[in-house]
Order: sequence, then structure tokens, then C-alpha cells
Amino acid sequence: MLLINDPVLLSIEMTTEALRARSTAHWIIAFSGGKDSSAALKIFLAAYRRAGVRLSRITLLYCDTGVENPVLDAYVKEFLRKAEQEFAELGLSINIELLKAPIPDRFFVRIIGRGYPPPTNSFRWCTTGLRIKPVSEFIAKQNPNNTVVVLGLRQSESRQRDRALALSPNLYWQKQREGKGDYDLFLPIVELSVPEVWDAIFGLSLPKALNKSALETLYRGASGECPVIKAPTAPPCTSGRFGCWTCTVVRKDKSASELIKSGHFHLEPFLTFRDWLAEFRNDPINRWHTRRNGRAGLGPFTINARKEILRRVDALEDSTRTTIIDTEERGVIAALWTMDNFARLAFRRQSDLGASKSDSDAILGNLSTAGT
Ligand code: SF4
Repeated sequence: MLLINDPVLLSIEMTTEALRARSTAHWIIAFSGGKDSSAALKIFLAAYRRAGVRLSRITLLYCDTGVENPVLDAYVKEFLRKAEQEFAELGLSINIELLKAPIPDRFFVRIIGRGYPPPTNSFRWCTTGLRIKPVSEFIAKQNPNNTVVVLGLRQSESRQRDRALALSPNLYWQKQREGKGDYDLFLPIVELSVPEVWDAIFGLSLPKALNKSALETLYRGASGECPVIKAPTAPPCTSGRFGCWTCTVVRKDKSASELIKSGHFHLEPFLTFRDWLAEFRNDPINRWHTRRNGRAGLGPFTINARKEILRRVDALEDSTRTTIIDTEERGVIAALWTMDNFARLAFRRQSDLGASKSDSDAILGNLSTAGT
């Protein structure tokens, strides 16, 4: 029986035992750049030094949504660059994988190409395509039965999550059930509180590439993180504003406002655009009056509204000297517009000719799956 009073040391001990027990597995550390996954990575590395085993394969996995808050994006990319060098110098064979969502799932391809309204609490279509799907597809391509995914999840953030965790005989080990193969989740920080997470970040030395003070600054005003794995124990994204600068799930982006107050003035035009997009979404004039399934109700953005959003993105790119939508994404957007124009035309013709409602619905229904 372990008698360790310090929660961080206990986490290291539990992780050391886990590494010894599963040394032949492929260990994948799901990294979001946020405090929880940073603490999980630090504990993992501290435990690896203690365990005295050589793991057969370790991957540090990061999923780039393409719309990460620019300050967070620069911070994470710099960290990954430096960490790669540090791991090599330490003789740690840790492979860094940077994933990206497929083009049809990217934020602006969905919004400007297909007319999706920006996400809300009740229609949060983005997390799965931008974060969860790329990660689960990567894991499915490994050997899931011999894979352990390290996640920075903690209990006591929600009763629902605590109940799900309590079903497991060992809080640290959970099973992720996926259609393409179940795999194990290991949760090094499951028993840590928020102050203990910061203790781990500030108290443990590796990786030195992790800029602790920068991370702390990034957290001013941020309430949580978007999940990368859809585990029953994962937090919902409703409070997860630490991530995309385009996020309209929250009414006000406090995280960006705090960063601007602390001197990151270059974020101002991004925040202004986000606020404008949230307003623009709510004006019915910018939306089809039918959904893609043909039913009444606010549907996708009209083509004119999508053109207006693109015009604003272009202006934002010019003023911030950044690339927000790349050439390939622009090509897919143009193709999606052509498809929507064609289908709306066909829909109107069918209606003029007195086609049955089910025929018209079929045209719009086909459209809803085309191109994605
Ligand atoms: S941070 Fe917001 S926009 Fe980004 S994936 Fe999560 S819910 Fe969607």
C-alpha cells in the first residue's frame, strides 16, 4: 500500500507503475497545449526517468485546428520545436505528431463553404471534426489493443464525470470504447486539483522547453480546454474556451480580452471579427429559410452571407498579415458554392414545376451530405 502524502508525487508513482506494467505498449500523450495536458506530460516524463524501463514507442500528439488563438498557436508551435530538440539531446525517443483536420472539416470551409452557422452550445459541430476525429483516426491506425493514451483529465470538475470515473476500479486507468478498436486511457492527473496541476507544472523540470510563465499568462480568463478525445469522462466543450479564436460557444471571449489587456494587442482584430460573426449568425436575413433537410427553420448561411464572411476574412488577413484560409481550402469553398447554387436552382425549378415536397426535400437532403 502506497503512503505518499504529496498528490503530485503520488501521480508520479502511479505513472511509474503504469509504465513498468505496460512497457511494450505504444504510449500516446494527447497534448493540447493547455495546463492539464502540460501537467500530464511533465508527470509522464518524471515517471519515465524513475521507471527504469525503455518504452518501445512514445508519441506526443497535437492537433492543430487551424484556428487556434494566435498567441496559443505561437506558444505551442515554439514549444513543440524546442521539445523535439530537447528530447533528442536527452536521448528520449519521443515522436512528435502534428495532426490537422481534413479540409472539408476545417472551420472556415464549414462556415463559408457549406454555410454552417458558427457553433453555439446547442449546435457545437466543431469539436468533433477539428479535434476529436483527427486524434481518433490517428489512434485507429495504430494497434489500439496495444496503445495507451495519456490524457490530462481530472475528476471533480463535474458530477457526471466523477460518476463515470467512479465506475472504474482504478481511477487512473479507463477504457476508451471506439468502433475501430478499444484502447486504454491513462489519467496521470486524475486526482489532482487545479493548484496541484500548477504545482506539477512549476515544480517538475522536464521538459524545459515548456514556458511555465507564458502558459500561466495564457490562462488568465480561460475557463477550460476543448477535449481531444470523446471519452465519457472528458469535459464538455461548453466551458472550454481555451482554444479557437473563432469560438462563439461562449457569449464573451474573456480569454482573448484578458490577453489583449495583458499586451497582446494584435488579437484585437480577431476578437472584433469573432464578435461580428456571432451577431451575423443571428440575423435571419443571412440564413436560408429552410434547413438542408428541407424542413422549415433557420438553415445555412445564404451564398451572399458567405461571400460577406469571406470578404471580412480577407480584410482580416490583410490587416493582420496572416493566412487564415489557405489556397486548398479556398478551392474547396468555391466547389461547395457551385454545388449549393446548383442544388438551390434545381430545388426552385422543382418547386415551380409543382414537384412533391418529398422530391424537393431529396434535392436538399442530397446536398446536405455532398462534399463532406
Ligand atoms: S474551442 Fe470552440 S470553436 Fe474550437 S473546437 Fe472547441 S467549441 Fe469549437
